[in-house]
Amino acid sequence: AAKESGKNSYTLFDLDSHFSRKQRVKVIEQIGDALSSGQLELHYQPKIHLTQRRLEGFEALIRWNHPDKGLLGPVHFLDHIEYTEYARSVGNFVIREAIERLREFAEKRLPYTLSVNLSPSHFLGPDFRDDLASALGDAPRDIRSRLILEVLETTALDDTDKVLDNLRACRELGVDISLDDFGTGYSSLDLFRRLPAQEIKIDKSFVMDMLDNNDNSMIVSAIVSLSQSFQRRLVAEGIESAAVEAKLIELGCQLGQGFFYSRPVPLENALEWAENFTWNNRSNSLEPFTPI
Ligand code: C2E
Ligand code: MG
Ligand code: MG
Ligand code: MG
Repeated sequence: AAKESGKNSYTLFDLDSHFSRKQRVKVIEQIGDALSSGQLELHYQPKIHLTQRRLEGFEALIRWNHPDKGLLGPVHFLDHIEYTEYARSVGNFVIREAIERLREFAEKRLPYTLSVNLSPSHFLGPDFRDDLASALGDAPRDIRSRLILEVLETTALDDTDKVLDNLRACRELGVDISLDDFGTGYSSLDLFRRLPAQEIKIDKSFVMDMLDNNDNSMIVSAIVSLSQSFQRRLVAEGIESAAVEAKLIELGCQLGQGFFYSRPVPLENALEWAENFTWNNRSNSLEPFTPI
């Protein structure tokens, strides 16, 4: 289309792609140092057991504490490094950090699960199983079983045989699998049935406005049925109000996350939040630590 509408559009188009290419190159140039100098960190968002009214665990979400730009959320850098060597190194950093946290939880007798997000190219790449195995090292069963790997539903659709093999390999190493952003990827029921995932996470786009959007409410309700029929744990992400929480509980959704409970925060803050957590004060949120 840019081609047909003349020279100006051409220029605009080129400027545009040049800009994003520049951004991308910059991120790729800086991320290695960021990783080795400790600028990448994980923030933790609580995951609540809605029907048992208790804290189940946390999801670890990556941030870049950039020296000039401040706290950057993953949208500013993860896509840029996908399909570069850094997808693997950042992925390994995240997995290793999470396992270290789980070891600390175990020492403190804190029975929390920890979920981590996997990059598609790392997960589908040739080294994933070995990377996971070496990160787990000699970790005992109770630590392994508290690690949950979140794989995007769209990743699971990519190369089905490979995905099934990798997921089985993860299961053999004793970790759980969660299908993240479920509902956005159009997986068939047949594929869904075959995926060895113990948990599914309904994408927040369906949850956030489910009280005002009847279609989304019906989608959530259909996913609740699906999870029950196939006996998978179900997590709703993006709970921002007591009203949405109440609706999810009524529909039979077991687990939830969202700003209503807490934003993702540094470990120390998350553990302090956990210590003070009771069902009755669950909406007392902390200082935000909101990335740009
Ligand atoms: P995700 O795994 O689906 O994580 C949920 C995202 O929604 C997080 O954004 C979280 O901060 C945000 N969120 C949580 N509760 C609410 C809520 O109530 N309302 C709203 N509006 N948002 C909420 P974040 O941290 O910016 O992460 C975005 C995505 O980046 C993640 O989506 C995940 O796909 C990816 N990501 C994050 N950390 C990592 C990582 O360490 N590795 C990889 N490969 N991907 C990651
Ligand atoms: Mg996730
Ligand atoms: Mg998600
Ligand atoms: Mg998402």
